[in-house]
Parts: sequence; structure tokens; C-alpha cells
Amino acid sequence: MAKNSKKKSKVTNSTKRFFVPNREAFQRMNFLYQAAHCTLVHNPDNVELARFYITTMRTIAKRLVLRIDPSIKRTICKKCNSLLVPGVTATVRMRAKREQHLVVACLSCKAVKRFLAREGYQLWSEKTELRVGLQMEQTQTANQTSESGQSSQTTSEQESK
Ligand SMILES: [Zn+2]
Repeated sequence: MAKNSKKKSKVTNSTKRFFVPNREAFQRMNFLYQAAHCTLVHNPDNVELARFYITTMRTIAKRLVLRIDPSIKRTICKKCNSLLVPGVTATVRMRAKREQHLVVACLSCKAVKRFLAREGYQLWSEKTELRVGLQMEQTQTANQTSESGQSSQTTSEQESK
């Protein structure tokens, strides 16, 4: 009986649903993003439908003021909202003019995105100052299990250096 109860507690810890504001909106945006990918996989000429999904996704984000992750944002054309898939709807080239950078060009509207290929470059959202607040929350929730609490402490020590 004791073993069973331990197993149950482990399962509840791993599958515990944390409170996420606007969960439904995020789920819908996730669905729309994946649907856009699926349409391009099945028919690469169906750019308009993928664009419609991405436009809807961005409208939801705009209305509710939700941040789209940079990794997703970088695969969306800012000008025409089409999904940038290398070789299908976009070209990706490395350029060394001024400084080594990546050039992603949308094939529909010819808009260009440039990303620096600088070593050790950190995005604003990945910077340590922002992580401190998140880690405080994580340590509070992980205090019940000693192992995870120690690991988060070590990561905070590494980042402070
Ligand atoms: Zn475009």
C-alpha cells in the first residue's frame, strides 16, 4: 500500500497542471501554428491557407497581449504573415558583409529578416535577469523535493558568475 501511494504522488507531481494565464489562447495559437506547418507539408503551394492560420494566431496574440516566443516569431514573415519554411516559402543564406549574419528572405513578398551570427549572443528573453524571477518560482515549487531544489540552486550559482 505504501509503495502505491508513493507512485501516485510521483505521478501527480510530474503531471501537475500549473496555472497558466490565457491557457486556452496559447493552446489555440499552438494549434494554428502546427496547422500552418501541416498545410505546407501536404501542399507546398497552399501558402494562402498557412498565411490565414498565422494571421489568426498573430491576431489572438495581439488582442490578448501575449508574447510569441522568438523561435516561433523568426519563422513568420513580419510583412505578409506567411510561414517561413526554408526552401519552400523562404530562402536562407549566410552573409559575411559587415558582420556574419543569416538572411531569411520571404519568397512571397521579398521581405528580408537578418539575424546576427555572433558567438555567445543572447536574446533578450534568455538573459539571466529575467530568469531570476522564474527560478524563484521554481525553487518555491521544488522545495518539496530536495534534489530538484539543489539543481536549481546550482544553476543560479552558475548564472551569477
Ligand atoms: Zn512575406
